[in-house]
Amino acid sequence: MKLQANIFTTILMLVFFFFSGLFGQPHNQEYLDIPISSARTSSESGQPLAGKIIVIDPGHGGSDPGTVGVGRTTEADNVLAIAWDLKPMLEEAGATVIMTRQTNVSPAEGTTYQRQINGQLAARTSIANRSGADIFVSIHNDWNDNRSISGTSSYYFSSQGIALAESIQRALIKQIGSKDLGVHRGNFYVLRNTTMPSVLVEVGFISNKREADLLAQSWYRSETAKGIYAGIVDYFSTK
Ligand SMILES: [Zn+2]
Repeated sequence: MKLQANIFTTILMLVFFFFSGLFGQPHNQEYLDIPISSARTSSESGQPLAGKIIVIDPGHGGSDPGTVGVGRTTEADNVLAIAWDLKPMLEEAGATVIMTRQTNVSPAEGTTYQRQINGQLAARTSIANRSGADIFVSIHNDWNDNRSISGTSSYYFSSQGIALAESIQRALIKQIGSKDLGVHRGNFYVLRNTTMPSVLVEVGFISNKREADLLAQSWYRSETAKGIYAGIVDYFSTK
């Protein structure tokens, strides 16, 4: 019996070495294939957005609720919640974050511009332009009379915003799994009147029951923020 047990142990060890040799080698190979310079960069610079100034513009607010969907919440509320999730992620990565509004009050509310949408938009772009921001990201929810339409789209106006729009769109789709409606040139006031690379993200359709329900939930807003964050990090890492 003792001899049999020893033979069994020996066979077990041989099998172990065979498989560790078989599978261990390619793993080591893969590890060694990682360029040393990039491995060093990602571990040393724990703050991929260090020194960047980022303006987040949660669309609408105050007397302007934005689109009011089939769900429980307004566009203004949804995008403000996403912005509040996004802000600490960007700050953790080293960025200075400026929000064009922090509450459900639009920037120009209470001034002579009150209730004038253009005045609110001018206040948003002037906040961005005065801040010396590297990028401007405006967050919105979409609307269509055809309630079956759903998905995510990102807009730029000047060509300097294309790469940022593409990065955010790609990362956001990957994170929230929404339908990819693409990156487009859009003649939006906040894009036209900002001097830095600027993007307007339409996260989803508040006119679509399923997306309106998702956008009303904190976990989905948080996933949205993660997607936008990843897109911003990608953008600066490839610049
Ligand atoms: Zn909007």
